[in-house]
This record gives sequence, structure tokens and C-alpha cells, in this order.
Amino acid sequence: MRVVWSDLHRRHDPPEEVEAGERQPMREHPGRVEQILDALRADRGFELVLPAGSGRDPIDAVHDPAMVDYLEIAWHEWSAAAGRDLAIPDVFLHPRLHDGMDPPSEPQSPLGRLGYWCFETTTPMVEGTYAAARAAVDCAVTATQLVLDGGGRAFALCRPPGHHAAHAVFGGYCFLNNAAIAAQHASDAGAGRVAILDVDYHHGNGTQQIFYARRDVLYVSLHGDPARAYPYFTGHAGERGSGEGTGTTLNLPLPSGCDDTGFLAALERGLGAVVDHGAEILVVSLGLDTWRGDPLGDLALSTGGFADCGAAVRSLGLPTTVVLEGGYAVGALGQNVVAWLRGLDGRAPEHS
Ligand SMILES: [Zn+2]
Repeated sequence: MRVVWSDLHRRHDPPEEVEAGERQPMREHPGRVEQILDALRADRGFELVLPAGSGRDPIDAVHDPAMVDYLEIAWHEWSAAAGRDLAIPDVFLHPRLHDGMDPPSEPQSPLGRLGYWCFETTTPMVEGTYAAARAAVDCAVTATQLVLDGGGRAFALCRPPGHHAAHAVFGGYCFLNNAAIAAQHASDAGAGRVAILDVDYHHGNGTQQIFYARRDVLYVSLHGDPARAYPYFTGHAGERGSGEGTGTTLNLPLPSGCDDTGFLAALERGLGAVVDHGAEILVVSLGLDTWRGDPLGDLALSTGGFADCGAAVRSLGLPTTVVLEGGYAVGALGQNVVAWLRGLDGRAPEHS
């Protein structure tokens, strides 16, 4: 299986984030990709390739171009105004601020502008953030193009991740929605009906929002129930799409402690929806933060369970692009990614 990666991810390396009111070391850091790369290389079953430059067009097909324009200059503008190197918003555009009034416009203040486009505080920017985010998109688009050209499967080793980034707002460690851009790229290339399967611990609010009214793109997500899990405001079972897209969103919120058996049962439901949709190509948002030792999740999947998940997705027989999302138990991240991809590749688990 081919794996697309770029070392430009290292340029996004903020020292800290603000979570639950505390400054803490950034959990979404370059060591994640380095650990995965080591495990992929050790396995010897993966071919590492560099991405082609995909330009702005595939991004603007998914995101508000004004947000992308902002991301290009955000760090420079904010750091010059604030006199600091780590850009974190401290005021946000809450929808009720303008209750009964005209819609808000983008503020002029650089400090205000960051909170206009970003929705929370765990998504700091440094000077190299935008370059890294663009490289992650290049990885996702290149992997998808490999699948479009040759069938089969490819893995985009993306960082920063993407599934929390919506059409016109970013956050949740995410700036540009790599999986959504991959799915739209496939659709624009004439791949037919597209399905996105999101198995990250967190609901992919951004991906859901981007395709919520679309009939041709199915979004299926398995995740910790938003009653207790980030991002709290989306991912409920009752969110099923809107307009023409009614019925093309499927949320499968999971209870705390959900193990391999429970997760695989939900996955079978999700895969059934992919089949019913008549999908001709699949994009997987692969998060490994469902692992039992992950510091940000409370599910209980095992490494062997990940291999079973990959094998279950393989059983669809669809051309598949897998895009990396979360996973923060860094010491186990490599083995868990390899297990999942070996399952998808139809290879036996390493230790059986
Ligand atoms: Zn996650």
C-alpha cells in the first residue's frame, strides 16, 4: 500500500495549547507522524511517496476562500498585533451575539479576526502552521489521485488533522479538512457516489457540516457520544442531513468503555449504510484515539481490534483513501496504524 507523507508537517509545532482552561503541552505534535513513519518503515509492507502540489482549487471547492485567504496570513497578522509567537484566540463569534440583528462581518482587529474564523482554544498557530496544513491537503489529494488512477487503497499520513474544520470555521487541532477535500476531489474527478467513514473518537463536525445537505456524499461517523465528548454540539444520532441530503448523514454515538465487539457491531451498521448509498469510492477518516490507552478518549479498542476494523472496511471491496485524523497515545500510535492498514490490506496481524 502506498503512503503519502510530507515532512512539512514538522513546521506545525506549537509548544502548548489551552484545554479546559489550562495551558498544557500540545498533544497534536510532530512526534505522532514520526512514530507512525517508524512503524510503517519497520513493517516493510508500505511504499512511502511524496505528495504533488495540488494548489488552492481543491481547497476552495470545500472551504470558504475567505477563510483560506485568512489562514495564509493569520499567524503573521496576529503575532504582529499581539507581540507573541503563539496565536490562540480569546474571543469568539458566538451565534447569539447577533440575535435579531444583521449577520456579523469580519472584524478589522487582528485579535478579533482569529476568533471570527476559529472556534476554540486547542488550535494554536505558529509561523509554519499554514505550510503544514497545505502539505497535509497535498497528501490527501495525492493519495486520492493514486486511488482514482489505479484503484486499490492508499494512506494519507496527514498532519495537522482535518475533520473538525468546517466550510468557514476551523478548530479542534484542524485547519483544512483533508478528508472532505479528498472526497470532493474524488467527486469532481467523476468517481461517482462518495462515502466518508469517520472512525475517530471525536465526531467530525466539520466534515458533517460540509456535506450535510449533499445527497451524493454520505457521511458516517462512529464516535464518543457528544453528551460527554468533544465537540459536544454535534454528532447526535438525530442529525441525519438536511434538504436533499436528508438521510445521508449517519451518526453512531458510542458509550464510554465501548470495546472491540461493540465498536465492530457499530462499524457493521456504518458499512451497511455505505453499501446502501451505492458508494463507488470511500474516504476513511482514521483516528486511533479510540484505543483503550488514549489520553483524550474513553473507548477500549485494542490493537487487534484495529486490524479487524481494517479488514471489515476491506470487505466492501471499494477503492479507498485513508486519511489520518487523531490518536494521542503516541507510543502506541505506530502499531495501531499499522494494524489497521494491514487489516485493510488483507494481511494477517503482525503477531499472530
Ligand atoms: Zn479525535
